[in-house]
Amino acid sequence: MPDCYCEYCGTKSSSVSALTASTCPRHPAGMHKGRHRLYQGRSPSPCTCRHCGTRSSSISTLTAGTCVRHPDGMHKGRHAPAL
Ligand SMILES: [Zn+2]
Ligand SMILES: [Zn+2]
Repeated sequence: MPDCYCEYCGTKSSSVSALTASTCPRHPAGMHKGRHRLYQGRSPSPCTCRHCGTRSSSISTLTAGTCVRHPDGMHKGRHAPAL
C-alpha cells in the first residue's frame, strides 16, 4: 500500500485512518482546526502547486508558502499539491 500524504501539510502516514486521526497544523480553517486530509491526486509531480505552478521538493515545503493565485485571493491560502 502506498504512503498516504496530507494535502495541506505533507505529513506522511502508513494508512488513511492513521493520517486522518490527527489534526493538521496547516488546515485551511486554521492551525489544528481540522484533521489532515488525504492527498488523492494522481499527478506525477504533486509537489507543483495546482493554482500557480510553483514547484517544490516536497509537499510539506510547498504548502509552507502562501499562493499568489489562491482561489480565495492573493496569499489568502497556501499552495496546494497538483491533482
Ligand atoms: Zn496535514
Ligand atoms: Zn500556488
